[in-house]
Amino acid sequence: MKLDIQRLLQNSIVIKHLLPLVLLFVTFLTSCKEPGLSGLLDVFYKREKVLYLTTMGPVSPEKVKDAARVIEKFYGFRVKNIGGNKLPEEAYCSGRKRYVALRVLDHLKGMDPGDLFHYNYKVLALTEKDIETEDGNVHWGVMGLAFLGGDEGIVSGFRMKARFRKVVLHEVGHMLGVDHCSFEVTACFMNDAKGKGTIVDRTKFYLCDGCRDNMSF
Ligand SMILES: [Zn+2]
Ligand SMILES: [Zn+2]
Repeated sequence: MKLDIQRLLQNSIVIKHLLPLVLLFVTFLTSCKEPGLSGLLDVFYKREKVLYLTTMGPVSPEKVKDAARVIEKFYGFRVKNIGGNKLPEEAYCSGRKRYVALRVLDHLKGMDPGDLFHYNYKVLALTEKDIETEDGNVHWGVMGLAFLGGDEGIVSGFRMKARFRKVVLHEVGHMLGVDHCSFEVTACFMNDAKGKGTIVDRTKFYLCDGCRDNMSF
């Protein structure tokens, strides 16, 4: 039996009755944002969560792959490596020979990941350079920095070699809205390291239930 597609389409109930409804719905969706196809693409692609991973200065490809793998495995969303970016010169503190983490985060905020189709994203930078944070006139070196629910984060391998993966998970945890662990679970990697490697070593690759409940992206 030969199928007459054209006739089928002409008489199809879908074309006659449902298509106008579909078009109306599409018009509604696109009018929420901007008109046209790009508006529709926005609506569609905004649903996909992506974490962009970028390196600042030389970082071994194995380390980048390892970070991507552990984030994907642990948090379940897609990680895309967007390659290397330069550390912003304006973030360098020549006195202490460290990069001011906050300024690097500001720099990441203005960065275009060069990816057309992913709008719901966060960016995590990996570096081997020493980074610091400050409180008034007090400055101290840190392993990573990210704000609660923030879209930018940085992890530096300078002050830790073996602790790197836990700090990656810790900073991404902050980006997902998880504050420092207040549930007294020693093994939870969201415990505040207070700049001490020994606290990081006490934690496991484990996120306690309380912290997990606070996660959102
Ligand atoms: Zn916890
Ligand atoms: Zn923290």
